Amino acid sequence: MIYVTKSFLPPISEYMEYLEKIFMSGQLTNQGSCVLELEKKLKDYLNVKYLQYVSNGTIAIQLALNISNITEGEIITTPFSYVATTGSILWERCTPIFVDIEENTYCIDADKIESAITAETKAILAVHVFGYPCNVEKIEAIAKKHGLTVIYDAAHAFGAFYKNKSLLSYGDISTCSFHATKLFHSVEGGCVIVNSSETDRKLDYVKRFGHIVDDYQYIGINAKNSEFHAAMGLANLPYLPYIISERKKISELYDSLLKGLVKRPKLPDDSVYNYAYYPVVFESEKQLLSVFDTLKKNDIIPRRYFYPSLNTLPYLKNKTECAISENIALRILCLPLYVGLKEEEVLKITDLIKRAL
Ligand SMILES: *Cc1c(COP(=O)(O)O)cnc(C)c1O
Repeated sequence: MIYVTKSFLPPISEYMEYLEKIFMSGQLTNQGSCVLELEKKLKDYLNVKYLQYVSNGTIAIQLALNISNITEGEIITTPFSYVATTGSILWERCTPIFVDIEENTYCIDADKIESAITAETKAILAVHVFGYPCNVEKIEAIAKKHGLTVIYDAAHAFGAFYKNKSLLSYGDISTCSFHATKLFHSVEGGCVIVNSSETDRKLDYVKRFGHIVDDYQYIGINAKNSEFHAAMGLANLPYLPYIISERKKISELYDSLLKGLVKRPKLPDDSVYNYAYYPVVFESEKQLLSVFDTLKKNDIIPRRYFYPSLNTLPYLKNKTECAISENIALRILCLPLYVGLKEEEVLKITDLIKRAL
């Protein structure tokens, strides 16, 4: 079986070294030494001042809204993402307002944001889809003009850079996921990156029940993560350059074998890609289904990322149309991409695609 992704694992001995430290210290969670070390290393790598490691990338988005004092109102967001983006908005009792996406990057179309702003708009929650950067300059300018908070769900953007800065350093707040299926992972996990000591302090309280020892300041939640998870992050982090370069090689092999057969996203100028996913867009859903079927019959399971377009979720109160997102969602497939995927497997996958088309 070949799935769309396979979690990277470090040599077990390297994970065991951290486990031994945890067992020696006896501290299993609550801001232990592995969590603190991981936070420091992530801040250094991303070149950001404030970052906190949390239990997953979904609660990271919820925390981002909470520490921005957004508890109601409208959030302008993208229909083309994983459901956690929309789900977090709804979970925080806010209303998602969907703005359609760009054809080339599948990110929110910044040119369409302003006409969606109302008196109720509180924030823009955009996604760097598949690691391709949003139009961060335009989004920042619009937010500034209208006094809105900018939050990036940067779950796909770890290791991606724009204008020599990590994509995770843009916006008022960026969140990331370190789930096992992501490029860099700590089994479960995520982080919240903020740009002021005030929000960093509030996040520190809110993520641990809203209090530090006897000082109760906010209504909080438990969004901490354990030493065992942080240890996996620490063991994986040194392999990041290797992970990205292996994924780059596989992606370039796909590029050469699928040239002209499928449509691919376009990377904006001044960007360094992280090879987080290998999305391909077919001419029609019919073509996609034929490819999907052929691959499946040969034990290859790609994923329909992202499908359906989130503006069509059945539990939304007001349905709006997002023609581009809905259309791409019908035709896009993410092909298998992970460290250890063999050249002959890529050849087999692309041969099957050619046969199906
Ligand atoms: C994976 C993902 C999340 C959720 O992250 P978890 O760590 O699994 O909670 C959120 N947004 C996007 C775009 C994702 O791909």
